[in-house]
Amino acid sequence: MSFNESCIQGAVSQAQHLNMSTRVATYSPAYTLVPTYECFNRCSYCNFRADPGKSPWLTLAEAEVQLRSLQNQGIIEILILSGEVHPQSDRRSSWLQHIYALCELALSLGFLPHTNAGPLSFDEMARLKTVNVSMGLMVEQITPNLLQTVHRHAPGKQPALRLQQLEQAGELCIPFTTGLLLGLGETEVDRCDTLEAIAQLHQRWGHIQEVILQPYSPGQTEAWLGAAFSPKQLLDTITIARRILPADIALQIPPNLVPQSQLIACLEAGASDLGGIGLRDEVNPDYLHPIDAELAKLLTAADWKLMPRLPIYPQYDHWLSTDLRSAVENWRGKIGGRG
Ligand code: SF4
Repeated sequence: MSFNESCIQGAVSQAQHLNMSTRVATYSPAYTLVPTYECFNRCSYCNFRADPGKSPWLTLAEAEVQLRSLQNQGIIEILILSGEVHPQSDRRSSWLQHIYALCELALSLGFLPHTNAGPLSFDEMARLKTVNVSMGLMVEQITPNLLQTVHRHAPGKQPALRLQQLEQAGELCIPFTTGLLLGLGETEVDRCDTLEAIAQLHQRWGHIQEVILQPYSPGQTEAWLGAAFSPKQLLDTITIARRILPADIALQIPPNLVPQSQLIACLEAGASDLGGIGLRDEVNPDYLHPIDAELAKLLTAADWKLMPRLPIYPQYDHWLSTDLRSAVENWRGKIGGRG
């Protein structure tokens, strides 16, 4: 055996050893900016929304104070999470412009924006693509039955509209995060249908970087107060999702909505990402995020390694404009080329 062959074999066996012994779960060190809590939809399980006109918009000056206080604290992603102004409202264009300006501000201060602001028109999405490294929208569930129950007063939750968003994102080459909200009254078959629909869109466009499996968890301010989606059902759903979704889509579970005793089982079942971890979960404000150091300890004890990642997965970097790509490369350098 030549020296080179022996070196290569040694490297391969070291890599195989690492792959076998080091199991990695990722998370995104994140902070959420909420441009407004106002939303024209009324999903009955919502713990986020305010009535239209009843939630003063976050000003750029306020956002700048918040963002400056986060500099050099390890935060990478700024999640811009907004309630929805009605597409026909005469305030729609200023709402979109405001979100755009918040993304620009976050970029100018060295962060990487990821916007989730509900369904957008093609042109709105194209505009936000220029100031976001990735974007997101939960499909939730595609069964129309929920339009008679929890989504009775939520026109933005029409399944066709949600799927159209994923289609648009694909056409625009936007790395995209989507997901299922579990336990709204859907059946297991409904969940499989939703996963199949996401898989098909990804097969067409190759743009879904991760799918969140979010167990419904009752909150204090919602109207519905249904039963929480059980950890056992979540484990089963992870197994099914891993079977249906292509292997290059990461499965994400929110660690604040899963009992700590079940977290490792979720990873063993096929989840590999814990999502954005920050000060407050704006969608589930009753459920505190664990501190990343505590999570790392929990994982280490079970031979898992917790590693930070960026809000864009590396295979999509070449989809970005030169400016956004250079901001991303800067962060990849800082976290050691990972994530
Ligand atoms: S869940 Fe989202 S879309 Fe539904 S009311 Fe709340 S903020 Fe609006």
